[in-house]
Amino acid sequence: MNPIYHQAKFINSSPHIRNAPADQGLEVAFAGRSNAGKSSAINTLTQQNALARISKTPGRTQMLNFFEINAELRFVDLPGYGYAKVPADVKKKWHEMMEHYLTHRKSLCGIILVMDVRHPLTEFDRQMVEWCQHTHLPLHILLTKADKLAYGAAKSTLLQVRKELKDVGCPLTVQLFSSLKKTGIDEVHEALDNLFSRAEPDQSEISAPS
Ligand code: GDP
Repeated sequence: MNPIYHQAKFINSSPHIRNAPADQGLEVAFAGRSNAGKSSAINTLTQQNALARISKTPGRTQMLNFFEINAELRFVDLPGYGYAKVPADVKKKWHEMMEHYLTHRKSLCGIILVMDVRHPLTEFDRQMVEWCQHTHLPLHILLTKADKLAYGAAKSTLLQVRKELKDVGCPLTVQLFSSLKKTGIDEVHEALDNLFSRAEPDQSEISAPS
């Protein structure tokens, strides 16, 4: 466990990266289809029940929500996607915003992609993997709600997802997680440590998370 992640504090919500905090230091973005369990995962990882509720406030669901961990490190909660009947213009706007953020944000050093273990690799998830492939962004996948499956079934999904993504051309790791049972937290903290410390820019200015 790395208690540094428990310090996370809300900074702001922004519909565009031009209103985002200065593009300095490093940030890891959390992505996931709506209802996959992303907010619960953020709350579990930061040990703060109210944190990701901010991102669920009406009006903020389609925004980039920024959280500060310390002066140099941030989390970003990306807008969820995947409600059954999303109008085409909303879909298009979401797509443009995500693509712009993922390709232009210099401080972005990795993605945590949250998937429901019972429904992995939806169309949305594959799109995220593709974007990471294009931008060479490291990707760490959480197969959450692991408590909903028997251990053998969850493990088998884990192996299947790893197998299916083994040739993706970006650093990629996959794990089981449960916010309900609080399992897999240490592994995610370790993945976050790795994402933050493997990133290139200004290592001299960035204290390794400890
Ligand atoms: P989001 O839309 O991706 O932010 O999803 P939420 O975090 O709001 O979770 C969606 C639903 O799944 C809620 O009813 C949560 O209580 C439930 N949920 C989230 N994580 C878990 C988990 O690890 N186990 C179980 N059993 N339910 C979960």
